[in-house]
Amino acid sequence: MARRAPEKSHRKGITLMQLMAMFPDEITAARWFEELRWPDERECPHCGSENTMAKANRRPLPSRCRDCRKFFSVRHGSVMECSRIPLRKWAIAIYLCATSLKGVSSMKLHRDLGITQKSAWFMAHRLREAFATDTGLFTGPVEVDETYVGGKRRNMSTAKRRTLVGRGPAGKAAVVGANDRATNRVAAKAVDSTNKETLQGFVLVHAAPEAEIYTDEAKAYKTLPFEHEAVKHSAKEYVRGAVHTNGVESFWSMLKRAHKGTFHKLSPKHLDRYVQEFAGRHNVRGQDTKDQLEQIAGGMNGKRLTYKALIRDNGRASGANAQAYPTPIRPVWENRRREASISGEPLDSASLNPILRFDEVSRPCLPPYMGMEREWCNGSTPDSKSRGAGSTPVSRSTRRY
Ligand SMILES: [Zn+2]
Repeated sequence: MARRAPEKSHRKGITLMQLMAMFPDEITAARWFEELRWPDERECPHCGSENTMAKANRRPLPSRCRDCRKFFSVRHGSVMECSRIPLRKWAIAIYLCATSLKGVSSMKLHRDLGITQKSAWFMAHRLREAFATDTGLFTGPVEVDETYVGGKRRNMSTAKRRTLVGRGPAGKAAVVGANDRATNRVAAKAVDSTNKETLQGFVLVHAAPEAEIYTDEAKAYKTLPFEHEAVKHSAKEYVRGAVHTNGVESFWSMLKRAHKGTFHKLSPKHLDRYVQEFAGRHNVRGQDTKDQLEQIAGGMNGKRLTYKALIRDNGRASGANAQAYPTPIRPVWENRRREASISGEPLDSASLNPILRFDEVSRPCLPPYMGMEREWCNGSTPDSKSRGAGSTPVSRSTRRY
């Protein structure tokens, strides 16, 4: 039966006027982030101790740990670490990203927040990290499909066109996605190949063993170890009873509209982060805007993306087309899930940490800094600058709340 998206009529939005009233100044925004991160007891991000004190004048930083004697703020151990952008602007950026169904370009953020386009681009990528959350196992029925992102061949120069081998999606970047009909949650991922190993590996990671899988007639899905049905798009069959992939196609539609209308170019190098943003936004769409903001702000903690790591060569093309891909590398956690599904061994949640998806650019740091090697912090770390215990207070221009 057709469903008219009941959550849309029930969900409560926040207008721009209400948003400005929510964050009238920097202190209010800082308190909002602090209350979300530490609802009960403030915890030192350096050593994990709860024996902390608030600095009334918030200088040089708002809090101090009585055990390790270091100062800290709510930015430490989150994607906002080392950022000098006011927290109020971060909160407004979260709102803009959460409520714009086709995404927000860095140029729009630059104009709306009064920061440089480069800062806005970096900020948007850090927010994309925050959108990525663990979707859990889909119990189904699960629709699985893949799509291709890239420029049209007819718009390319002849020289570029000649370099493309093959037809159809040749030269484009592939994305595979799954939509759980039971919860209407989506999981998606940019992949280097659409071969059997990659696509079936994706299904094994996201679908529960008892889930029913619906796909199109692609050969890669033929030997899926699940209850599986396919619709034959080549014979113009798009729906056969409950068997269709229209849910996940509708998710692709949103991604494509954003590609064409908002971003204009999605490079394979950064594509996966955009895909995570769209999946994350899809998964909170039914909630009230206030809950969406809180969920995204919560997703910022325990993650880190430095600018150096963001622009570092990750083996993928930074142009709009995905030429010259390296040998596909499957993330470690996918292998573990696959091996476990064959051997029947139980898996511990630590080995399937979804943050590992971003192992090229971001490392898990939960709880931040505790007993961890710190070489993943490619940028400057809080105490690599002169802001450790007993250090000289930072100047007004570099103070962070
Ligand atoms: Zn401490």
